[in-house]
Amino acid sequence: MIDAADVGGVHIKYLYHCRRQLWLYIRGIRPEHLNAAVQLGEAVHDTSYTRNTPVDLGAARLDFLDGRHWVHEVKSSSRPTPADQAQGRHYCHRLHEIGVDAQGAILHYPKTRRTHRQPYTAEAAEQAVTDIADVLTVAAARTSPERLTRSACQGCSFTDYCWTE
Ligand code: SF4
Repeated sequence: MIDAADVGGVHIKYLYHCRRQLWLYIRGIRPEHLNAAVQLGEAVHDTSYTRNTPVDLGAARLDFLDGRHWVHEVKSSSRPTPADQAQGRHYCHRLHEIGVDAQGAILHYPKTRRTHRQPYTAEAAEQAVTDIADVLTVAAARTSPERLTRSACQGCSFTDYCWTE
């Protein structure tokens, strides 16, 4: 279905947000209409840091890489989440795979004008490998993982799919 090389930033984000979401996504199941939270995310993305060109790494696509090899990612939420941090790690991992010595990730939160800087340490590198293995484990599951609690599903674009009986 997918192998390690196919694992990209979206897979990593869903791994941390909800494993069921990841499982559905891997099977090509998409919400029919993006909800307001997703649209807001795209709007923030479109209007921020437009001078920079995204870096395409095949499965992974990061917002930009500066001259000191720090990955920059623009986020629509107010503060760093484990999913954001995991994506930053993942992009550094992918860059190292192609010989770029990424130093870490700088996450930008235009809504709150905050930035979060996370160096790519040896521990982070190890975790990035584990995350890819975890995505493959979820992919291989024969049945979909359980839903999160209803309150944790708020804003998820699969809400209608998961909660319409
Ligand atoms: S609606 Fe909830 S259970 Fe379903 S994919 Fe989204 S977060 Fe996961």
